[in-house]
This record gives sequence, C-alpha cells and structure tokens, in this order.
Amino acid sequence: MQSGIVIVKGIGIGEVFIISTDSSNIEYNSGTIEEEHLKSTKAIADLIEELQSLKEKASNSGNTKIFEIMEVHELLLSDEELINTIKEHLDNGLDAIESIEQTTRHYENIFLNMEDSYFQERAVDIRDLGNQLKNKLLGSKKNDIDQIEKEIILVADEIQPSIIANADPKWIKGIISKQGSETSHAAIMCKTIGIPFISGIDDLSVLQIDDSIIVDALNNQIHINPDISTLNRYRDLIKELDDLKVTMTELSNQNIYISGNRIQVQGNIAGPDDLRFFSNQNSDGVGLYRTEFIFLKRDNFPSESAQFEAYSTVVKAFNKSPVTLRTIDIGGDKNLSYLDLGIEQNPFLGYRAIRFCLDGPYENIFRTQLRAMLRCIDYGKVKIMFPMITTVSELKRAKEILNEECENLQINPNKEQLSVGIMVEVPSVAICAELFAPYVDFFSIGTNDLTQYTLATDRMNPKLKELYSYFNPAVLKLVQNIINVGNENNIEVSMCGEMASNTLAIPLLTAMGLKCFSVSPTFINKVKYILNSINDINLSALLDEVSLQETSGDVKYILEQFQEKYLSKKTQYL
Ligand code: PEP
Ligand code: MG
Repeated sequence: MQSGIVIVKGIGIGEVFIISTDSSNIEYNSGTIEEEHLKSTKAIADLIEELQSLKEKASNSGNTKIFEIMEVHELLLSDEELINTIKEHLDNGLDAIESIEQTTRHYENIFLNMEDSYFQERAVDIRDLGNQLKNKLLGSKKNDIDQIEKEIILVADEIQPSIIANADPKWIKGIISKQGSETSHAAIMCKTIGIPFISGIDDLSVLQIDDSIIVDALNNQIHINPDISTLNRYRDLIKELDDLKVTMTELSNQNIYISGNRIQVQGNIAGPDDLRFFSNQNSDGVGLYRTEFIFLKRDNFPSESAQFEAYSTVVKAFNKSPVTLRTIDIGGDKNLSYLDLGIEQNPFLGYRAIRFCLDGPYENIFRTQLRAMLRCIDYGKVKIMFPMITTVSELKRAKEILNEECENLQINPNKEQLSVGIMVEVPSVAICAELFAPYVDFFSIGTNDLTQYTLATDRMNPKLKELYSYFNPAVLKLVQNIINVGNENNIEVSMCGEMASNTLAIPLLTAMGLKCFSVSPTFINKVKYILNSINDINLSALLDEVSLQETSGDVKYILEQFQEKYLSKKTQYL
C-alpha cells in the first residue's frame, strides 16, 4: 500500500475499524421553529454533559492532555457567539441540522484563515463538535468506538479528537488517515498515548472492515492481511522495541562521560503542562523553554504574575537542574492575534523575537517578561536566553535592559543563580561567534532556524524538504565553529534544535565536541542511550570523513555506515 506521512512513530497490529463521519444518508424530520430550538438546545446540553464525563474519565486515568482538549471543546461549545449564531439561523427558519452545519462551517473558515497553524488546526475541533451535534440530532451512534474490545487500527478521512477521547486507548494499536498534521489535537493525543499514526493516505478504499493490518510508522509502510512470517517478524520487532525502552530507561540513570567530559541531556518544553513528559525520563534540566506559548494561547498579554506562575512552576520542578527560559520568540509562523505587527513580505526575516522586544513601543513587554523570569531565581537555577540575536549591539542592549530590571527588583544574582546566553540561529552569529563570546555564559545552537537561514530555505515549505538539511556541509561548518569558539572560551554550548535528537547526528555532534543536547522530553532516554553506546568509540575518524563530504546525502551515508558498524541495529528505529 502507498506510504504517507508519519505523524507518530511506532508499530501497531490490529483489525481495520473504519470511522465514518458521513451522516448524509440518515433522514432528519424537522419541526416548527420552536421545536428545532428545543432540539438544538438539548443536543448542545447533552454533548456538554458528555464532554464533562469524558473530562472526568481522563482526569481519573491521569490523562491531562485529553482532559485539556475536552475542556477546549467544552469552551468552544459554550461560546456565546457560537450559540447565538445557531439561534439566529433557527430564527431564520433553518432546521437544527442546517443551523449547526452553517455555524460550524462559518467558524471553521474563521480558524482556517488564521495565520497561526495552532489556530488553523482548531477548525478540526469545530468540525468534530458539529458532527457530534448532528449525530445527536439524527440519533446515530458515534461509531461504537467506546464498545470496542479488540485490538484495532482506526481508519478515517480525518481523525477527530472525540474519537480518541471516547475510545479505550488500550485497544487502539494504530491510526491511518487521509488528512491530519502533527499539530492537530488528535495527533497530540496520540503522541501522548503512544499510538502509531500515519496520515496522508489518499486512497483508503483498499482497506476493508476486519482486514488484519500492520501500521509500520517507523518505515512508513502499511501491510494489509500480511502473511504469518511478516506478522511474526513485526511481533518480534514490537517486543524488541519494548525491551529496548526498558533498557534505555535503566541506562538513563547514569551520568554520561565522553573523553572525560560530562555530557548533559535536557528537555525542550512549551510550558508547565509539558512537565508530565519527563516522568519516565532522566533529564538534566530544561535546555529550552519556548515562553512564547503562554502568549500564543491567550487573547491578551499575560501579566507579570501569570508569567511568573508558569516559569516558576517549571523552575521549582527542576530545583537543582537548570531551566533555560527563552524570551518571547514571536513572528515568523508564531503571531499573536492581539498584536498587529503589520504585514511583512518575509516574516521569518522580519520584525520578530528580540528585534521587536528591543524596539521602543514593545520594550515594556520584554521588561515585564524579564522581571517574571528574574523573580524565579529564588526557586532554582535560571538561565535566560535571547532568541534571534543577529548583532553584538542587540545582545548588549538586551543585557542592559536585563541589568536594569535586576536593579528594579533590587537583586544581584550570582552565576549559580542566573546565567545569560543566546540562541545561535542566525549565520552572522555562527560565523563570528568569537565576537559574541565575551558577553555570554552560554550558546544554544538553534539548528531549525540556522539551517533555514544558512541555506536560504524555508523550514515550513514541504516542497523544500530535501534541500532543508542540517547535514549540509555549510550548516555543519557553522555548528563546528560555534562549538569550537564555546569550548575555547569556556562557554557552555548546547544544541536545542531538532538536529540534537536525530539518531544519526548524535555521534557526529559528540565528535564535534558538543556536550549538551536539549531535545523533546520523550527523546531524552533515547539520546542518552545512543551516547552511552558510543562513549568508548574513537570518533575522530568519523569527523574527518564527514568533513570530506560535498553534500548532505553523502554526509548521511557516512553516518548510516557508522550506525550500522557501531550501534545496535535497533537504533535505526529510535
Ligand atoms: C531553532 O530555531 O532551532 C529553535 C530551537 O527554535 P524554534 O524552533 O523555536 O525557532
Ligand atoms: Mg528558532
């Protein structure tokens, strides 16, 4: 069968269970305007009650992500404007089904037209709620997903959050869909539960109810009615991967030393909610706290105390290990609905991050955030990091403002309490790292942006997927320069871009002299496992060989060879 896009990695085996949201073949008997009002009010009330019981179920089973998503659904459905729009349609003579369809379509379009991909994805949530309301009015059952008691693979055009929330996760072994992206609520739920998920499969008609199926979301393959030997091969692989996870967790307790240097592995987070991802992982702290998310998820600026609450929760949770708070990094693909910064021709090269923070009208937003961060020093080790630094003058000005806010708070933190550093994600800094070195305690390499700026290649454009590669020799040369300058000047260098968790890249980065990796929390044990596997291998030959390569493809080939020779075969699946 055709391959798709892997949304959540893993392997699942089960029987096909097709989810249909199409209720067009069910007849609806509409009544008078008053009757339709009553029916629609009842459908909404019933659904709210159902969402509340799903929230309770999620809370009892400790699944906070599902709880939060059901809460978002409840909020959307209780929105006065949305309810009034339905009522207006009813008053104008549309029946309850038509009124709900018109209203959800209207709100879907509003969300789809928003620039931020987080908000665009909320269109699916609205569609999901609309379908559930229609099901209630039509008396159709919601696919009986809550009755399932066998291992299944869900198949649907689009997986909606209510489907996952209603099912018992232990029976869902995998998901195949036509549409869906990594930032959809359904994908986030599957990632937390660990359900392998492949989307982007255009022709689902080849899948029949009760077909036996393997979702191989490691190699991006789907096997329909596999023969017994294929089935056994995959069962063995699932067992091997489960065993590997246990080994990785055990090993992650130990400190890692390579050539006498302690190597740290930390987590990247977007807020206190992400703390739960650390429960099975042994982290050496937080290497990147993307604080812009507290700004993105609201409809006005968060106060100093709201920010302090969020940041200090994380700092307290890590107590002795450092927490790196990055100042607001909006712009590019992250825009605030309540802040109009004007239309830009090239938003990723535009008025963003530290640039807007240092501009007169917005300096106060920056100062408020710095105060909230500085107040955390009483609760643990705080590191403050400035994003998108391009020039030394920007860095000096940002530090000047930080010092003024220390004076305002009448504090004088020592290096144990507070260190200050920058993201190195703009080539001007990577090339001239030594000019910035005197002013920082640490560098953190942001390969996501550094790759796009070095290669003039939009990180968001799927058409440029091949070109956008951190294995490109030019990117590697810059990464090496930053590490060298850091090591020569006793400045800590970490990497918080996606490259840091790439299985192939980890040996190379170690060979380059990187001593701190900051990755998605669920990858911490994996990175430690790979580091442990290479700690007594001489890596200089690998570095020499990579430095001779001309293309990212050639570099990857060398790294794959290294993986095959020195690492357990299973690491290719990590
Ligand atoms: C980066 O650019 O590598 C990075 C970690 O920051 P973000 O992905 O938030 O831009
Ligand atoms: Mg960045």
